[in-house]
Amino acid sequence: MNDTKNLNAHTPMMQQYLKLKAQHPEILLFYRMGDFYELFYDDAKRAAHLMDISLTKRGVSAGQPIPMAGIPYHAVENYLAKLVALGESVAICEQIGDPTSTKGPVERRVVRIVTPGTISDEALLNERQDNLLAAIWLSPHGFGYATLDITSGRFLVSEPADRSAMAEELRRTNPAELLYPEILEDIALIEHCRSRRRRPIWEFDLDTARQQLTLQFGTRDLTGFGIEKAPLALRAAGCLLQYTKDTQRTSLPHIHTVSLEHQQDNIILDATTQRNLELTQNISGGGEKTLANILDRTVTPMGSRMLKRWLHMPTRNIITLTYRQEIIRTLQDQVKDLQPLLRKVGDLERVLARLALRSARPRDLWRMRHSLAQLPAIQTLLNNKSNTYLLPLLKQVGEFEAVHDLLARAIIESPPLLIRDGGVIAPGYHTTLDEWRDLTAGATDYLDRLELREREKTGLETLKIGFNTVQGYFIQLNRNQSHLAPIHYVRRQTLKHVERYIFPELKEYENNVLTSKSKALSLEKTLYDELLNMLLPHLVALQQSATALAELDVLCNLAERAETLNYICPTIDSQPGIHIIGGRHPVVEQVLHEPFIANPLILSEERRMLIITGPNMGGKSTYMRQIALIVLLAYIGSFVPAKKAVIGPIDRIFTRIGAADDLASGHSTFMVEMTETANILRNATRQSLVLMDEIGRGTSTYDGLALAWACAENLASRIKAMTLFATHYIELTTLPKKIKGVFNIHLDALEHRGTIAFMHSVQEGAASKSYGLSVAELAGVPTEVINRARQKLRELESFSTKATQGGVDDSQLSLLHPEEQTASLVKDASHNLDPDSRWQRKVLKWLYSLKKCFDTKLR
Ligand code: ADP
Repeated sequence: MNDTKNLNAHTPMMQQYLKLKAQHPEILLFYRMGDFYELFYDDAKRAAHLMDISLTKRGVSAGQPIPMAGIPYHAVENYLAKLVALGESVAICEQIGDPTSTKGPVERRVVRIVTPGTISDEALLNERQDNLLAAIWLSPHGFGYATLDITSGRFLVSEPADRSAMAEELRRTNPAELLYPEILEDIALIEHCRSRRRRPIWEFDLDTARQQLTLQFGTRDLTGFGIEKAPLALRAAGCLLQYTKDTQRTSLPHIHTVSLEHQQDNIILDATTQRNLELTQNISGGGEKTLANILDRTVTPMGSRMLKRWLHMPTRNIITLTYRQEIIRTLQDQVKDLQPLLRKVGDLERVLARLALRSARPRDLWRMRHSLAQLPAIQTLLNNKSNTYLLPLLKQVGEFEAVHDLLARAIIESPPLLIRDGGVIAPGYHTTLDEWRDLTAGATDYLDRLELREREKTGLETLKIGFNTVQGYFIQLNRNQSHLAPIHYVRRQTLKHVERYIFPELKEYENNVLTSKSKALSLEKTLYDELLNMLLPHLVALQQSATALAELDVLCNLAERAETLNYICPTIDSQPGIHIIGGRHPVVEQVLHEPFIANPLILSEERRMLIITGPNMGGKSTYMRQIALIVLLAYIGSFVPAKKAVIGPIDRIFTRIGAADDLASGHSTFMVEMTETANILRNATRQSLVLMDEIGRGTSTYDGLALAWACAENLASRIKAMTLFATHYIELTTLPKKIKGVFNIHLDALEHRGTIAFMHSVQEGAASKSYGLSVAELAGVPTEVINRARQKLRELESFSTKATQGGVDDSQLSLLHPEEQTASLVKDASHNLDPDSRWQRKVLKWLYSLKKCFDTKLR
């Protein structure tokens, strides 16, 4: 059916469209017409462009054809997926009324709004990734922030103290959709969010927020949630909840609590650090060669999502960490039995969300039944272990025997996709349904029984019940017996030898058969709805079970990884410091073809900063990152790639590694480097782990060295953070002599007959020389260039020796390019020398040096 041909802006249907569209001016409206969703006017143009579908024109409006684009209803999921990925929202408008019995346009209503942050359909979600809706509020006193994962009901709020903390939080949580108040002027803050929605300020009203939340949680006030005294967060939470309700247009029973997050409970990893450490994405944005890639062998999508959350937010709670370590230890010999069971549990978490939103499909319930079917076996397997740590988790997992049995009785094996098509409710679940179905299928002996009964009643042996498509059901008598037909038999047809009759009971049967199919279908729908109603009271407990099962999956996975990858259990210590023996880089050791060289680390109150030198390619970056990753793994409760690891308190991990241009945001390499450095210097504390790699490279040698020096000094003597400082400025190796707590280490290399062998092993002390030329040769720089460089190096070295003999302090010079040397000499000369002074001899010496320098350069 397509009644769009005679479109006109004044037709009642278009009036209806325009009215609905006016309620959703900013988002696309999918307007259901028969088997299509149609879009009109600007929506059509935009949709045609975004979804790559053809733009047509129909009817007229103000003398112009109306632009129109349409998609078939059965393919809607694909198009929605595309639009949501582009950050678009869509209002889905369905036909509510019955087109056959309505005069004028069928009644239509927007039944739900699909937005990037509130999707729960399986087809639209990435199963191994969280999908968050967030709201931000700001005031002169700070920020409020709320996030909701609609697929788990996880509702979290926080109050970042300042803009930079807020920016970090936004980057860390990476919401799929962000709501912000219309008064927000600082658009740069939220610019990188994929999909942003401007909301009126009254949606952030504090009293309304309180009301919304108490109503949602069914409580009198919010004290029980610990958020009463967090008004900024509350405002954000209020707006977020309201928006979710508006879009879902149904109750949200799975959102039954909210928690206030405290920064001090977790190790903070800013976005730069998450990127530099390649936790879930590598530097080029892919998922290869990342920590998650090596670590994630979880068998359920919900486990995979939980593991990634842990990786992005390691906890500082020692009790939690010890508890996780203990469980990992216990599970180590259960992996093989437990993982197959967990795999069958599947994504219970998201199934439950769809149950809560009443959008659960038959297959969701079927899967839920199979998830629950695994619980007794899981309980039996793990209950054997008298491990006190596991007991609370197992209690939370529960058994849900009754729910399982209900589902098993109610839903058939491998049900069809949609309840609409029927055949979902299992036989034996409901007698009437079975009867309707039997009738539809003609699979009943009712007619046989009726025939027998009527024969007995009438004593007519020739009586038969029959059916044909024209007459329907009938009772047939031989003509010669027709005079004996009972009075209530109504003649229908007379044939040569037989008379055919109908009577009320048979008529009723006929009606039943004819309507049984639609009756069975509508009864199935009712039963399905009732089934959802019966399941909903168990929702909260089931959600807890899903969380516990996800945790079991993560811990079982970590147990398996520890075993397979040869990790050990670290000690989380209350004393400051990090002590590692035989540490390895979890990712590099897996991708390397040669054996990985394990390395130690000692950091303590007395040994807070290590200056790391050694050739390029020597392994400095790898070493520093491996320390950060070991610490991070220890703080998610995992075992770690080392022989031994004792790790003290850490509040944040900072990294300044590599020099990736952030060209997209218009920042040069050096600017990015300095922004990151500024962040570290402002926010690091005594308990922070700071990795600084090659700072100062992006500017001239003097600037760079000076900056690197000052940063190292500041970190070592003012902030006193646990710092690993890799540098190519050999000058920095003199810091240990000047500042307490600073030590040199280096990555070893052997140079033999002009080639270099990297030992990748960490040694105490500074590197004795730089190996730049050998590395360049190894990289394939042509021999003639290398030879010329060797010659130049000798010249420079002899120049610098002579300069020293001449009284110039050359501690910097040897590293400089001739032009820079000249410049620096001239600069020094003009600063320090007074030709009128008595120190003529010194002046002369400087002049000789200068002349020599110019000569060498200009030759
Ligand atoms: P640098 O930062 O000193 O330039 P990298 O850390 O980038 O050096 O290491 C260069 C390469 O050396 C790595 O890609 C890796 O292949 C190898 N490597 C580094 N550390 C080790 C190690 N401990 N054992 C074995 N190979 C290593």
